Parts: sequence; structure tokens; C-alpha cells
Amino acid sequence: MTEADPQHVQAVFDSQLETALRWRESTAAERITRIRRLRDALLARREAFYDAFMADYRKSPSEVEGSELLPVMDEMRHAIGRLRRWMRPRSVWPTSTTLGTVSAIQYQPRGRVLIIAPWNYPLSLCFGPLVSALAAGNTVIIKPSEMTPAVSSLMGRVIADVFPESEVALFEGGLATSQMLLDLPFDHIFFTGSPTVGKIVMVAAARHLTSITLELGGKSPAIVGETADIKRAAETLMWGKFLNSGQTCIAPDYVHVHESVKDAFIAECRKVLRSRYGETDAKQKLSADLTRIVNERHAQRIAALLDDATSRGAVVRSGGEVDLAQRFIAPTLLDQVPQDARILEEEIFGPLLPILGFSQLDTVIAYINARPKPLALYIWSRTPEEIDRVLKRTSSGGACVNHCVIQFAHGGLPFGGVNNSGIGSAHGHFGFKAFSHERAVLRSSPLMLVKLFFPPFTESRRRMIRRVVDMLRLPML
Ligand code: NAD
Repeated sequence: MTEADPQHVQAVFDSQLETALRWRESTAAERITRIRRLRDALLARREAFYDAFMADYRKSPSEVEGSELLPVMDEMRHAIGRLRRWMRPRSVWPTSTTLGTVSAIQYQPRGRVLIIAPWNYPLSLCFGPLVSALAAGNTVIIKPSEMTPAVSSLMGRVIADVFPESEVALFEGGLATSQMLLDLPFDHIFFTGSPTVGKIVMVAAARHLTSITLELGGKSPAIVGETADIKRAAETLMWGKFLNSGQTCIAPDYVHVHESVKDAFIAECRKVLRSRYGETDAKQKLSADLTRIVNERHAQRIAALLDDATSRGAVVRSGGEVDLAQRFIAPTLLDQVPQDARILEEEIFGPLLPILGFSQLDTVIAYINARPKPLALYIWSRTPEEIDRVLKRTSSGGACVNHCVIQFAHGGLPFGGVNNSGIGSAHGHFGFKAFSHERAVLRSSPLMLVKLFFPPFTESRRRMIRRVVDMLRLPML
């Protein structure tokens, strides 16, 4: 793998300063034009993206459309339609101590921003934040993942079609390129990836007090309650788990199923898998709709999790086949997984689903609360009190009831984690705000009370100040 040339990186970073200062005054119309040009260049290479995804990890064109192009197009549409409103300064009423002033929040571009992206949705996780960064008026440097080289290089060509490097640049490369970029004093870093690397990014950002958005991962739990619609739960959970072969940050990592419905749930899941990917294991292996594991190292990592679980007594209820040469791992359902299995410790990020039985919801809630806060949490149930109890007593970046993963697709919702699963949020208005500085602007007037607080503090002035402070005990209107 070739790393970026440090001198070139520095020259591009320097050249973006002048643009960033100029773009502070950019209008909504100018930013929208940039996003439209990006959209047109992306669509002009639509078929080339099919080929690139096929080359990198045999992702089907329909999945490329549904999970890569669709979120980016939606982000673009949202920004184009709403940007004028987002950019408008937001007026803020004076408070009792600032009576006589006029205040507003002004949305300023942060300046020069860095986007570092992972490999699992390489297009969507580079171009989605790019749209938000452009909407907010920033210059951008992107470092895509080295693990999907065909898609990364094609994205570089799309960007070069639309932008000079002094506006937006993409540098391919691995660790060295990433570190080189992290050494620079960007105004904001938007990182998507693992919690481990997220911590490295946070330390690097601290050196320049650069603000950050961290979109991380972790183990997202799912719960199927006693009253759940089992057919619906199986249909939706099998989709969310095996989309992109489980290489999805918000995929249900493992599922707690009420003991009374567990066997029925597993039977329904097996039925769904057979109808979607093929009646037999051999046919499933030939399915064009199952994305491959991104590389052999990851395939080995997932295979080792499977081996470890079965060697400790887990039972394979569907799938289980591993072909490392083809980077194929069958969609696999695992029952009776012992608590000490590694698969219950680390993020699986592959097509293995541990199914854990439960009889008391409180034990599930305690299990989730004993672990780092996840990026997503899912519950299937027809009992509103049960849903409410889970939502109130747990924490996660986002949550979805009676479905999974689709919360990502709602441009009006913030997308992000909490603590170990991330800091800050993306998408739509939240993405725009992540890449903007909310600047408080107060315009004074001669009527202002502030003169009262100027020395010298005579006795009468001291009494007046005390009275003003005391007035703050009164409830707000
Ligand atoms: P990763 O953290 O290994 O890599 C992400 C990016 O960081 C890549 O561009 C990589 O080149 C770079 N990088 C790797 N090591 C680095 C280091 N030491 N210093 C600086 N940069 C470094 O993640 P990944 O394997 O590409 O992706 C999988 C992870 O990402 C999973 O944990 C998944 O849950 C998470 N993820 C989160 C989201 C989200 O939106 N929250 C989306 C997709 C993936």
C-alpha cells in the first residue's frame, strides 16, 4: 500500500487555509452548488462503483444502491432542501439580566476539517460526512480506509472531478497517512471507526485542542420479548444482522430471546435465511447477495470467534461454514453460547449471531448496563410497558423498536454513539451542526443594565446589585 507524500499533504493543508477563510462568507447557494456537483459526479460513476464494490468484497449492486448510494443521496437532498434554514442565524430572546440586548446564534464553518473513514460502508461513511462538511462551508481532507482500495481510489477520482485540492482532497493510505494527517492542526476531526482507534484520534486531537466527532462501534444488543411478533422479528433481524455480512456498526451483535419463544424464533430465522440466500448451505455459499468478508485477516478473526464459541459448547443452529480462501462465512445462528466465549466479549462485525435465552427482563437490562454503552439497541415486543422499561433503564447511541438498523436512514434523527460508542452526532441538521461553530453574538444597546456592575461600588449600587441577584429567585415567565 502506498502512503501519501508528507510534503504533498502539508501543501494541500496549507492551501486550504485561504479557501477556508474565504468560505466563511460563502452563501447557501454556493454550498448547494458544490453539493449538486458532487452528486452529479457521483452518479456519473454509478456503474464504476458497482465494479469497485464487487472487486473489493463482492458487494451486490443492489446493496451498493441501498446501503451506500441511498444514504448519501438522502443526505445531499436533505442538505440542499434545508441548508438555507440551517444557516439562518437563530434569534435568542434576552434574559432578565440582558434586557435591552439583541442576540443570535451564528453558524460559522469550523474551517479545515479532516474526515477519517472505515471500510465497511466506504462510500457512505466518506461522502455522508463530506456533504455535511460542505453544507457547513468547510474545506475537507478525507482519509478513506486502505482495506477497500478500489472504492477508495474511485472516490478520489470523483472528488478530483469536482474540487481542486485547495477545497477538497482525498489521500489514500494506511496508518502512516492517518498519523501524518492527525499531526496537523485541523479545526475539526470527524472520525468513524473502532473505539480503539477513536481513543488514538482523541489523544491526537487534544494536542491542538481540535474539536472531534467520534462515530465508533461496539456490541449492539437486541431483545426479543415474550410478546414479540416472531415472524416480523426474524424477518427484520435477519436483514439487519446479515446485511453486508454483519459488517455493520449498528448490526444487532447478539440477541436475548425470551425462553418461551426461543425455539420458534430460531426456526423462523432459519426459514428466513433459507428463503433469502438458498435452501441448503451449499446454495447459500453461491448466493450473489452475500457480501464477502473484507479480507482474510478479518475472515480468520471471525472464524476464530466461531471456533472458540463451539469449542466451549455453543451449538450451531444454522450455517457454520467457513471458507477462508473465498473469505466466505455463512450466516450463522449460535445457541447455548457460554458466557466466557470471546464472541460475547468483542464486537463480532461478521455474520455470526449468538442467541441467548432469558426469563426475566431485568437480568437482560442488568447485562446491558454492565457493559460499555452500545451504539444501538433493539427491542421487539408488543408490550408497551416492556419497551418503555428497556428504553428508560438502558443507554445507547440510538434505539429502534420492532425493527433494526433503519434508524440510520432517518435524516431528521441524530446518528451517533454515547461514550464508548461515540461522541457527537451526524446526519442532516446534526451533521451540519457537527461541522459548524455555534457562535454567540450579542448586540448591546444603551438601555443595558450592565453599567450597574461597573465600579466604584457605592453603597446604593451594592444594594441594587443585591436586589438584581435576589430577583433571580423569581420563577421564569
Ligand atoms: P478502524 O478504527 O480500524 O479504522 C478506521 C480508520 O482509521 C481507517 O481509515 C484506518 O486507516 C484508520 N486507522 C486505523 N488505525 C489507526 C491508527 N492507529 N491511527 C490512526 N488511524 C488509524 O475501523 P475499521 O476496522 O475500518 O471499521 C470497523 C469499526 O468501525 C467497527 O468498530 C465499527 O463498529 C466501526 N464503525 C462505526 C460506524 C459508526 O457510524 N458509528 C460506522 C462504521 C463502522
